[in-house]
Amino acid sequence: PEPLVELVGLSMHYRVPDGGRARRLLKAVDGFSLSISPGETIGLVGESGCGKSTVGQIAARLLEPTSGRLRFDGMDVTKAASTERRILRQHIQYVFQDPYSSLNPSFRIGRLLEEPLRFNRSHGKEERKRRVQAMLERIGLDASYAGRYPHELSGGQRQRVGIARALMVDPAFVVLDEPVSALDVSVQAQILNLLKELQEERGLTYLFISHDMNVVHYMSDRVAVMYLGEIVELADVDALFDRPKHPYSQALISAIPAVGWKDRLGPSIQAMGELPNALSLPPGCRFQSRCPFAHDRCRREAPRLATIEQGRAAACHLYTASEETRLQTAIR
Ligand code: SF4
Ligand code: MG
Repeated sequence: PEPLVELVGLSMHYRVPDGGRARRLLKAVDGFSLSISPGETIGLVGESGCGKSTVGQIAARLLEPTSGRLRFDGMDVTKAASTERRILRQHIQYVFQDPYSSLNPSFRIGRLLEEPLRFNRSHGKEERKRRVQAMLERIGLDASYAGRYPHELSGGQRQRVGIARALMVDPAFVVLDEPVSALDVSVQAQILNLLKELQEERGLTYLFISHDMNVVHYMSDRVAVMYLGEIVELADVDALFDRPKHPYSQALISAIPAVGWKDRLGPSIQAMGELPNALSLPPGCRFQSRCPFAHDRCRREAPRLATIEQGRAAACHLYTASEETRLQTAIR
């Protein structure tokens, strides 16, 4: 099928002071491309500080990239005019990690859910009320919750409201930014299952951002592994978790506390030390300072994301012949 959402060569570069008088370029997102099919869940995973939320905010049009394009349903919406913005706001929604900070504490739940409908001016007052009631029931909160305030709800209930608020306008594409990481583990599964049910019922397409490999495994059809602003591996979820190819993916999966992984995959990400400073990266591969397989070529040449097998792309020299090798092969 045609992709619903296309992120094409997105970059987000900032000039930041480097402590002295000079300014340096921070490449928070650097040449990020991804196509998302209708009804699909793409997991976007990586340590915090790798640019996942920035990609999510660009995809949801909360941030404009410094370069690159965003296409929705075949249309270029990188810089939509304000009339189109209203329509797009209906199609593309964003759910925040901490529902408490995204819900106005002085509004009752009923008003918080009704507001997105008012913004779109699509329904009369009675219809809006009816929809709020129906949505409350659908997310497992009874009608009495309409009169309560956010602080009267538990974390899980608030995230249900956060999700409901995003869905009030019937979007097609929802960016979920760490939607369960602020919640108790016992509540996480309920919210993830609710998200899955709602996706099924409404044909939603998700970009699911998380640093939690287990959660990503549970939710995703495909997974994009992100490191310092770039995708380093993109694969079907089962292929990735069974046979991670990029050393960074291997290190993330090796860190999952499950029997067997550590022996098969080598060092976990915790054993590899801190994320390097993104402002002073050496030339070549961004992962070289932590990679157990780093070799000469990695210090000279940045690997490009390339298809290495059916349905899988990786950015690592271990899987691509060097220019020299290719040239030699061609001469022979
Ligand atoms: Fe490691 Fe080299 Fe692959 Fe980078 S390109 S991940 S340093 S082997
Ligand atoms: Mg984040």
